[in-house]
Amino acid sequence: MAWLHIVAPPTFSAPVRARSWCACGYERTAIGRPAVLQLVQAHNHHRAVCPLLTQQEARNAA
Ligand SMILES: [Zn+2]
Repeated sequence: MAWLHIVAPPTFSAPVRARSWCACGYERTAIGRPAVLQLVQAHNHHRAVCPLLTQQEARNAA
């Protein structure tokens, strides 16, 4: 499984933060809107290439 957690503070003075992590050991954190957007893209990409996730999906399909 892979998780994506984004924390958007209620005030504009505090930057948005995000953390993306996966059971395979993949983990990334980002601070600031541009970095968070990149992290979301990397997270989606990881879901497609993660050896753990692709194995699980293949097992479920079989
Ligand atoms: Zn993974």
